[in-house]
Amino acid sequence: MKIGEIAKIVEASTWSEGSNSDIFDLSVDSRSAKGSSNELFIAIKGPNHDGHQFINELAKKGTRNFIVEEGVRPIPDCNILKVNSSIAALQKIAHAKRIQFKKEVIGITGSNGKTIVKEWLSTILSNNLDVLKSPKSYNSQVGVPLSVWPLSTHHDLAVFEAGISMPGEMENLAKVIEPSTGIFTNIGTAHDEHFGSQKEKIEEKLKLFEKSESLVFRADHSELSEVINKDYKGSKISWSTEPDIDSLVKVEASSPKNIKVLFKGDHYTFQSEFTDEASLENLIHSIVCALHLGLTPAQIQVGIAMISPIKMRLELKRGVNNTYLIDDTYNNDLAGLTKALDFMDQQQQLAKRSVILSDFVQNKSTNEFYAELNQLLLQKGIDKLIAIGPELSAHKKHFSLESKFYDNTESFLASLSKQSFQNELILIKGARQFAFERISKLLADKGHKTVLEINLDAVTHNLNYYKSLLKPETKVMVVVKALAYGAGSSEISKLLEFHKVDYLAVAYADEGVMLRQDGIKLPIMVMNASMDDPYKLIQYNLEPEIYSLEQLEAFLQAYQFANKILPAHLILNTGMNRLGFNETDLNPLIERIHNNPHIRIESVFSHLAASEEKAHESFTKEQITQFRQYADQIESALDYQPIRHILNSGGIIRHNADQENMVRLGIGLHGIEVSDLHADKLQNTSTLKTVISQLRTVKAGETIGYGRRGKAINDMAIATIAIGYADGYLRYFGNGAAYVSVNGQKAKTIGNICMDMTMIDVTGLSVEVGDEVVIFGSDPTVSQLAKWGDTIPYEVLTNVSNRVKRVFYSE
Ligand SMILES: *Cc1c(COP(=O)(O)O)cnc(C)c1O
Repeated sequence: MKIGEIAKIVEASTWSEGSNSDIFDLSVDSRSAKGSSNELFIAIKGPNHDGHQFINELAKKGTRNFIVEEGVRPIPDCNILKVNSSIAALQKIAHAKRIQFKKEVIGITGSNGKTIVKEWLSTILSNNLDVLKSPKSYNSQVGVPLSVWPLSTHHDLAVFEAGISMPGEMENLAKVIEPSTGIFTNIGTAHDEHFGSQKEKIEEKLKLFEKSESLVFRADHSELSEVINKDYKGSKISWSTEPDIDSLVKVEASSPKNIKVLFKGDHYTFQSEFTDEASLENLIHSIVCALHLGLTPAQIQVGIAMISPIKMRLELKRGVNNTYLIDDTYNNDLAGLTKALDFMDQQQQLAKRSVILSDFVQNKSTNEFYAELNQLLLQKGIDKLIAIGPELSAHKKHFSLESKFYDNTESFLASLSKQSFQNELILIKGARQFAFERISKLLADKGHKTVLEINLDAVTHNLNYYKSLLKPETKVMVVVKALAYGAGSSEISKLLEFHKVDYLAVAYADEGVMLRQDGIKLPIMVMNASMDDPYKLIQYNLEPEIYSLEQLEAFLQAYQFANKILPAHLILNTGMNRLGFNETDLNPLIERIHNNPHIRIESVFSHLAASEEKAHESFTKEQITQFRQYADQIESALDYQPIRHILNSGGIIRHNADQENMVRLGIGLHGIEVSDLHADKLQNTSTLKTVISQLRTVKAGETIGYGRRGKAINDMAIATIAIGYADGYLRYFGNGAAYVSVNGQKAKTIGNICMDMTMIDVTGLSVEVGDEVVIFGSDPTVSQLAKWGDTIPYEVLTNVSNRVKRVFYSE
């Protein structure tokens, strides 16, 4: 669209004119605005920020087009469109885009599962179609139009989600999305203060589908289905798992892994890894919609295989007195509780079940709510309830199961003796402010507990941050060598596949084989494939980096023998002097690949030796220039264009303009910004934790540990923690070179680090045996530790040994 056209669409009252440029990008966030002349910045006023404040700054950066709702002084060469409401203008632009698109558009709303259904359905459809979907959970008044904007003729189909919090909002979103097919996921039990009744809330959400031809919903949700049957005019694609409920599609989840669907007279069976109720419902919505759209069951099954469960914060651990704990001390809402209870239901170890529950801070307390809660607990077979908080206590009378009530966490802790719980499965679920981690700490078995916790949300955040620095068309290869920098390659790769990165890279063939065995389907480049590896690469569909003529010959021979085309990534040496073709190799190389039908050059690349260092900037620039020359030479001998790439994490930050067609992201994914320019934009992903095994006091003059290197000058309190150099805590960190955090307090190491244990100085600190100790995480950070150890963050991360259990979570 041209800006002139947009001015008409938004009915701009004034338009101070610059040139009539084409608009490719919309932006509402000054931080991620690119500063290009083909960008339109829409200044939005929010409760905590005002986009109008950034207009001059953006104009300096190069942005030339603005929509404003406040008077702004003209800026030379800029188009400034004044409107009444910026958000309404944004929606009008998206609406204009939407009505040009004549193919299928799917709209999704409901209380829970919108984002998941959108992601899963898109994954299933993407195997066969070019699908546009909303990014992340873009479902608001601003997020929806931004999702719709990229719609283009090359797309076969689009999937958008819509969420509302107030009456009146859905009509706007309906105009922007205009879904031809709808999915109404479900309606939550949360009593929302903005809606008079549940029915009113359903009616409002249903407005999204006023013009849609068909609507997928679950007939088992009785209130929802009543409203739809009464008000909805299009074709109703209802599904149900209940034999007695009238529905178009019948579903039977006989064993959790088998989903049987009776659709238009035919029976189909699908397999999935999901076993909890909520995931199954989301998956069945996706399956029914895909069948309705005409995908074959085989196509759908391939798609389902690509969606795999990500491990959640819900984790089962051993507790005291032969108990097991399921621990979720971060939030509490009814949907989350239902999910946790389902998870509990799947655990077969112990018959007796207890729930320790805090007040629900987000729900309005009504009698119905507590009656429903009691019903839910009974239905899930809970024997005992410990209810903590004034709201729960005030509604005592609604609970018919064995229950005890406490006003706050402290009074419960005071009453807790070690014998309070025995031989039972305990769910601990509380809102953040109740700090239930104090309960789980007391009830948890204090076994050997050195773990590396990986926050998958932070990994996603970091990926998205790097993506925001790239042109939308730049591909992303993520380097997951060395167990994804120690984090765990399969889990990280699954997440990356979910977020649709373009490529993975590993160092050795076996690392790629492992990823394939764990079901990773993304293309994988192997950086140091040895001459013995071709058959392994062929068998597991891995793509070698080719670095020498000799290696090229060996691979060509093997691939030809197997009757396969060699998918090669050529690395060019431009100054790293590690692997790669030198300038003098180029002619023979080109001769060998020119018109050679047995090889396909997937990519041509080089590696920077000091991308993160300002001091070496001119060297880096030279490397890049040389790379381009070499790559041009190679390309001129081919009748197709291989992908080109040279930037690693540091390069993306420092040499952003040289993205070529792809970048190779490594350490940045793990929250470490080596050039130290954007460090505050990344999130910490990895926390290495252990516990205190023993406390002792030592007298002035005594020594601590091997070689008597630690000396007590005064009387001291010493704690022994369960981590040593065999876990990756380097000997360098001993003798006070590093500190750890215990309950938020810093404690320095004392004496030499042992193989499996370390002593720390806890003099004057409040600590107990069993307390958690953070080795690295948000404080101290990996980078800090690297400095103390006279090494680099890469080494600290990849040193964490296999003995240390990895725990992945997502909040
Ligand atoms: C490890 C590696 C990367 C990733 O580097 P980071 O600095 O971690 O981003 C990229 N390319 C090659 C060839 C590598 O070996």
